[in-house]
Amino acid sequence: MLRETYKGRKVVIKKGRDWGTVAVHINGVHCWARVCTAEAALAQAKRDIDFVGEEIDGASWGPEWYAPGTYEICDEGHPRAIGGACTHSYCNRETPEDDHV
Ligand SMILES: [Zn+2]
Repeated sequence: MLRETYKGRKVVIKKGRDWGTVAVHINGVHCWARVCTAEAALAQAKRDIDFVGEEIDGASWGPEWYAPGTYEICDEGHPRAIGGACTHSYCNRETPEDDHV
């Protein structure tokens, strides 16, 4: 098992459920598993985190991908910038009432 905090995210690499796989957990949430070494999984998890970046984008990513304390959760469970609006399409959908405006 490997543990590392990367850019504020807690990354844990564990043995996966299926034979030969390793599982990546970020901030306590299982993100993915594949057949590779723990070192390779950790390196990929870091690239994933680099890809997600620091800007909170609830439309694309769950809260587990961000460092704790850098976001808040909208009423529907998506991460959003602290004090900002949620970017998730569910939270930005037109309500039926809008059709009559
Ligand atoms: Zn939302």
